[in-house]
Amino acid sequence: MSRVLIVGAGLTGSVCACLLRRELQSKVQIVVWDKARGSGGRMSTSRPPDPSSLSADLGAQYITATAAYAKSHSSLYSELLSSGLLQPLVAPVEGLKDKVDSENFVTPHGMSSVVKHFLSQSGADLFFERHVTGLYRRGASWEVERTAGASEMFDAVVLTMPVPQILQLQGDVGQLLSVQQRELLQDVVYSSRFALALFFSPDVVFSFSWAARYVSDNDCIRYVAVETRKRNADCLGLGPSLVVHTSVQFGAQHVERDKDDVQPIILQELHKLLPDLPQPMSIKCQKWRYSQVLTAVRDSPGHMTVLEQPPLVCAGDSFTHSNFDGCVESALSALRALKASL
Ligand SMILES: Cc1cc2nc3c(=O)[nH]c(=O)nc-3n(C[C@H](O)[C@H](O)[C@H](O)COP(=O)(O)OP(=O)(O)OC[C@H]3O[C@@H](n4cnc5c(N)ncnc54)[C@H](O)[C@@H]3O)c2cc1C
Repeated sequence: MSRVLIVGAGLTGSVCACLLRRELQSKVQIVVWDKARGSGGRMSTSRPPDPSSLSADLGAQYITATAAYAKSHSSLYSELLSSGLLQPLVAPVEGLKDKVDSENFVTPHGMSSVVKHFLSQSGADLFFERHVTGLYRRGASWEVERTAGASEMFDAVVLTMPVPQILQLQGDVGQLLSVQQRELLQDVVYSSRFALALFFSPDVVFSFSWAARYVSDNDCIRYVAVETRKRNADCLGLGPSLVVHTSVQFGAQHVERDKDDVQPIILQELHKLLPDLPQPMSIKCQKWRYSQVLTAVRDSPGHMTVLEQPPLVCAGDSFTHSNFDGCVESALSALRALKASL
């Protein structure tokens, strides 16, 4: 039995783990490590400190399936729709450009429910707060080092974090990359954004009717959503939560600043947009240093094999594009490489 480590419990890691299990069944032991305290990655759903309001999706908001992807990934879409984890987006979104031949879906239980579904299907041994710092080749295995605790040995490793974070790893990865591979990885560029979640008490009613709105006349704020309305879910008396995403330009300008210093600037701009907004019970701020990929790895099949034996494969949206289908494409591509090597 091969022992495979997937680094990252985001969408790419979870789909990769799930498909690996379905393909190889009991021939693999799948282990997933993530440095965060929970799963989701950039599809994370944040719980409020006070449980009387709804959770908030701080990263990805909804899933847009083009006709081509709806067809090529139809089994995964059917699985999510039939289990009630995906539903068509029906709520009004101001400024959302309707794309011909594509459909939008929301997640009634939050975006992380999709990631959690694939992780649970994978039967993987899941560990949080395991921050990988280095990979060392030891004969036919990989020794994987982390910030706290003993390093462990694996027969194969899949890295699914954004490429700039892969390039920060210590050990043998850097030396094993060819000059061309290194150049391709170094060319990857991500946008940065800040996200705010504002949690309100159950008696709060907003004075506007939209579920989400793209903002075009503010330098700081690009998008605002009322989670309760966007998800079209029965929220069982929970208070609404509001999500705010900043613009790429604002993110680039402030990325090196502490999120606690940036939060008041975003709130000030939000009050200009929504002067009647009631006082929230609590606020969470998230800095996405690596938000969405602007320049992906050129001419990539969806993954990069750093070494065939013992297998070391890089995957994630850096190798495709930043959305649900980009992650699925990358996971499928990494799976093909792994199956050939294992
Ligand atoms: C603000 C925002 C809005 C977005 N909107 C949408 C949208 O509406 N629709 C859509 O489809 N997509 C959207 N996206 C893009 C989408 O969220 C991403 O493409 C997708 O979540 C990427 O998944 P991933 O698994 O490849 O990477 P990630 O989700 O980043 O997962 C990588 C995981 O690796 C972990 N990790 C990193 N380094 C280490 C380490 N050294 N050791 C251990 N673990 C590590 C991280 O904690 C993370 O959980 C949005 C993204 C953002 C940030």
